[in-house]
Amino acid sequence: MRILIFFLLLQSNLVWSQSIVAPMTMDYKEIILVNKAAKSFINDSSITIILKHDSPLHPYIEGVAYQINPKLYTIDINFNVKDNKIRKWTLLHELGHIIDMSLGRLSQTPPRWMGKKMNRDLPWDIRPWEISADEWAVEMWEALVDEPIPYIILKIK
Ligand SMILES: [Zn+2]
Repeated sequence: MRILIFFLLLQSNLVWSQSIVAPMTMDYKEIILVNKAAKSFINDSSITIILKHDSPLHPYIEGVAYQINPKLYTIDINFNVKDNKIRKWTLLHELGHIIDMSLGRLSQTPPRWMGKKMNRDLPWDIRPWEISADEWAVEMWEALVDEPIPYIILKIK
């Protein structure tokens, strides 16, 4: 019996071991949202996403996503983002960047979008990697959140 249980655990880990790591103080609804979104939208069962919900980012920056290595990502949300809907949106937008990184469309080191050098002189709202993250966020929001999107998104694929 012991052998069987071990085998089952091993099996389920092999099938799906994606994990979300978050502080105890983070709103569990936000953690569940990221967990569901990652499960449904990231086709890689072996990634880990570390969430930090109250990071001291620059006041203009709501969130940041980083790829530490191809299997490990972080999402930081600025502590000054207090509105629940904006927080959810920001988590999904940052997860959108992670989706693009996991697909190889977005690279941080070196900075590349679709294999080409990123043009950081582009205004924020027409940066293709930001538009893509918003498009992912819209898709995830519509699939997982039961309330209207907090922003008007102008360009959807
Ligand atoms: Zn972004």
